[in-house]
Amino acid sequence: MDLANNISLKILKYPDDFLRQKSQAVRDFKDQRLSDLVSNMIKTMEKEKGVGLAAPQIGSDLRICLARVDNTLFALINPEIKAYSRKKEIFEEGCLSFPGKFFPVERPVKVKIKAQDINGKKIRIKADGLLARVLQHEIDHLDGILVIDRAMK
Ligand SMILES: [Zn+2]
Repeated sequence: MDLANNISLKILKYPDDFLRQKSQAVRDFKDQRLSDLVSNMIKTMEKEKGVGLAAPQIGSDLRICLARVDNTLFALINPEIKAYSRKKEIFEEGCLSFPGKFFPVERPVKVKIKAQDINGKKIRIKADGLLARVLQHEIDHLDGILVIDRAMK
């Protein structure tokens, strides 16, 4: 039995300095530690009932983020936002690193994202609504940007 594959990880809370780091691209898709990390992140997100989770929140500096919207799970490696809609919307965002808090944030309603899957295969996602919002929030984490930086004053 591989216990390493069944771990719920501790979520770093603001103002932990690690949340401000810029994450590094994943290059080795054959490394078993990558799939272990992603499956542990998924377990952690589900246990915490989050709709998204980014690797820096569990103390990893790799460019990995998750989203679960409408019962569809997205596990994105090296995600990049390639296009934003001009139309924006304000919505109250929560974050597992700011438990119990919500912040009004204005973001584009649609984004186009380029990423890789867990095997390194290139994927493209056109997201709108909640998925677009969650992915923008999680990709911000990979650059050390937090919801409080975007929150409307
Ligand atoms: Zn967050």
